[in-house]
Amino acid sequence: MEHLYDMHCHLGSMPNADQVAKRAEQLGLVLLNVTVSPTDANGSARLNHHANVRTACGLHPWWIANGACGEEDVARAALMCAASRFVGEIGLDFSGGRMATAPQQQEAFDWIIQSCAEHPVTGRVISIHAVRAASEALDTLQRFDMPHNSTCIFHWFSGTSDELARARALGCYFSVNARMLATKRGREYARQIPLDKLLLETDAPKELGDQGDAQALAGELTQTLDVLDDIRIERKELLAGSIAQTSQELLG
Ligand SMILES: [Zn+2]
Repeated sequence: MEHLYDMHCHLGSMPNADQVAKRAEQLGLVLLNVTVSPTDANGSARLNHHANVRTACGLHPWWIANGACGEEDVARAALMCAASRFVGEIGLDFSGGRMATAPQQQEAFDWIIQSCAEHPVTGRVISIHAVRAASEALDTLQRFDMPHNSTCIFHWFSGTSDELARARALGCYFSVNARMLATKRGREYARQIPLDKLLLETDAPKELGDQGDAQALAGELTQTLDVLDDIRIERKELLAGSIAQTSQELLG
């Protein structure tokens, strides 16, 4: 069975997570379960008993922006991430009102990346959220030489084309989803990403706390693959095979 890999979803926030994970396994679906806070990561860790689930340790910038996570949570996240092979969702979001907390977000992101850099883990994978802050995220990653020590995946990349070029040059990976490919710019970016750095994701569920549906995840990943097939030069079998192989290597 050809496996499908969702490289960024919030399985732990689905009330029926176990049922989704089980059904996903039957469908040949492997999930990178990203989390938004140390509490979320602790609550989600039990999902790793499913053979097709890898849970990452994260601190989402929105949780800093809305005041839900403070310095103690950042310290906890930095400790947990330092010991984790899978890290995310972490990052920076300087869009709209969230810009007001840019210094706190930057401090948290730098702290987590620094503690990862100081505690290398073989095969570490980091899923990164960067909205209106790709340059700042790249500055931090570069300062700690992260793209060379681990796999840095920009989830749903939305920066400028210069920032995309810089991330590519640093060897970053990119996970793309259906909503990214719904925009012209997103499709253009997805066309330019090197095949060996291209991954799929759903970022499901739409709203954290929504019921999950493994069949819908598989459908969305397949649909994303179909759009990539339309916009890229590779034949679909090569595209699907390469994405699956890269994902398997990262999660294996
Ligand atoms: Zn997410």
